[in-house]
Amino acid sequence: QSFDEALSRLLNSAECIVGQEYVSVNAAFNRVLVEDIVAPIAVPAFDNSAMDGIAFAFDDVCVSERLPITQTVFAGHAPKALKAGDVCRIFTGAPLPVGADTVVLQEDCEFISATEPDLGLVKIVDNAIRKGQHVRQKGEDIGQGDEVLYKSTRLSAAQIGLLASLGVVKVAVFKPLKVAVVSTGDELRNAGDDLGIGEIYNSNGPMLCAALQGLGVDVQAFHVEDELAATKAVFAEAAAKFDMIISVGGVSVGEADFVKQAIEEQGQIEFWKVAMKPGKPLAFGHVTGIPLIGLPGNPVSAFASFQLFALPFLRICQGEEVKLASEQKLPIILAASITPQRETFLRVSRVLKEGQYYLKPYPSQGSGVLSSVAFSEGFARVPRLKQTCSGDLLTFIPFF
Ligand code: AMP
Ligand code: MG
Repeated sequence: QSFDEALSRLLNSAECIVGQEYVSVNAAFNRVLVEDIVAPIAVPAFDNSAMDGIAFAFDDVCVSERLPITQTVFAGHAPKALKAGDVCRIFTGAPLPVGADTVVLQEDCEFISATEPDLGLVKIVDNAIRKGQHVRQKGEDIGQGDEVLYKSTRLSAAQIGLLASLGVVKVAVFKPLKVAVVSTGDELRNAGDDLGIGEIYNSNGPMLCAALQGLGVDVQAFHVEDELAATKAVFAEAAAKFDMIISVGGVSVGEADFVKQAIEEQGQIEFWKVAMKPGKPLAFGHVTGIPLIGLPGNPVSAFASFQLFALPFLRICQGEEVKLASEQKLPIILAASITPQRETFLRVSRVLKEGQYYLKPYPSQGSGVLSSVAFSEGFARVPRLKQTCSGDLLTFIPFF
């Protein structure tokens, strides 16, 4: 089946599978909101000065005169009401006194006969003052009762700051998703082990665990040999304790590939192959009701199918609303035209030439080594069965 068919089948069967809890806003970064957030207060909560300067009532003050400064207002301190014709010294963030509506920058003032440091007389030398200038109005950013954040949003650092500015203490979020990462293969060893003949270090396991940690997932790594009974056992154990299983390797048609059979014997396969490169073997199924995504073992294929399939699926399972990213199309640089038999995802970097960005493929596009991923910026999507020439516009998908 085609890439798009497989992706829409996968995402159509995705649903939020985690519970809910309340957490402090300070612990809510990267968590997904359960409900809309309504602003309990306005921001700013009071009219305040956007600058260091003087404040007064625009209609009451004759700008060419020397005006008496009757108070100094600092941020965090309550001012007294201002009498008509008076002005006050004011600093950024300080509340505007009742009676004042306009601020003039201190650079546009002449301070005269200040016996004390701040009080005295002032003459305004700026002759282009507008009523209300340099004042941040109450509720200018957010009105009390406004909907500020919507449910199913994954909270960014800026959004944590926004919640903090509203004085929100706790938010309802989805509980962390628990995922088992199962690396398959007799050849795999962990860093720190000695390598025997034919053995390699497990790179997919740590890569996938890192990617899942970035999504705020509770992740545990498993390793299983290429053996049917052991594979079934580890799937059964993981299905009992986790919300989802991501396996890697052993999903092809080789004699040492048991993932598909292990799923079929304990649950069902939804689909198996996808016409994409890198990638191709990709299993999606359920083991005792728990979703399982079986990624191919080649590290580049594992990375690509993780980003393009597993990632949006995981986000939906975490309660997040997954919006399709707006597509950025850029011209590709190719030595010769290509007509791929499968949807192809080249690893590329953007290069700037005469004010225009181009997509430049990494020199080696093999699926065995991660260097094409580690040293590139993203994928260029090459449509299958269509001739693509150098200079054609391709969709650029930045790495997550
Ligand atoms: P498989 O899909 O199991 O046939 O594996 C395809 C290729 O990817 C083989 O060369 C494996 O050695 C390699 N491979 C599989 N799993 C991993 C892993 N976790 N880390 C590094 N390489 C792997
Ligand atoms: Mg294998």
